[in-house]
Amino acid sequence: MIETRQLTKRYGDFTAVDAISFKVEPGQVLGFLGPNGAGKSTTMKMVAGFLAPTSGGATVAGFDIERQPLEAKRVLGYLPEGAPSYGEMTVREFIEFIADVRGLSGERRFQRIDDSVARLHLERVLEQPIDTLSKGFKRRVGLAGAILHDPKVLILDEPTDGLDPNQKQEVRTLINSMARDKTIIISTHLLEEVHAVCTRAIIIAGGRVLADATPSELEARSRYHQAVSLTA
Ligand code: ATP
Repeated sequence: MIETRQLTKRYGDFTAVDAISFKVEPGQVLGFLGPNGAGKSTTMKMVAGFLAPTSGGATVAGFDIERQPLEAKRVLGYLPEGAPSYGEMTVREFIEFIADVRGLSGERRFQRIDDSVARLHLERVLEQPIDTLSKGFKRRVGLAGAILHDPKVLILDEPTDGLDPNQKQEVRTLINSMARDKTIIISTHLLEEVHAVCTRAIIIAGGRVLADATPSELEARSRYHQAVSLTA
């Protein structure tokens, strides 16, 4: 469903993402696990078509992100990192705006808005300005925007970053429910998040893939490394 080939991003002499290749099969939830500056966001922006690679490429549902950007963007939803300010915009205005951007009209527009609002439990905050909501609600609003056009693929950049433990849990539960009908990539700093939502994880550091494994394999490796460091 997603494939990257030698995906690379350079800024001058600095290589932020260094020839990363991976495949994500339909229905998988792939975690990008890595420290600050590892290259997670840069990789995700390239796969989502928001940043041009220096070399290499990516396809989403068979569409080349550079040569067929409209087709690729139609099948993918993207949640950017962080918490943007929405000014005075209410949740309803934001959702209607995204529906316009996505070209949704007629009965399908109503259905998609209803479905996204219901899935993210946003009914009771629809008329509130987004900036007055809690961080957890704001993240849910971002997720509603990402799934509005019912994409097959979701790319979520640190979807629980900055949230308190309850809000994190809430967002993870929502991601698990979305995983029933979508292929998902999420980035995170947290091994616990990989366990909570991912079927597979790629560890990335210095713009390179260090490991590609299931969450339980990663856990076993981390226990092994702890044991080795205790006996060293
Ligand atoms: P974080 O968890 O902090 O978001 P990340 O793994 O997502 O980190 P990236 O944001 O992809 O990391 O950044 C990878 C590297 O590329 C970092 O060293 C960053 O400083 C650098 N970088 C990112 N964008 C630019 C840019 N526009 N110009 C120069 N360097 C950049």
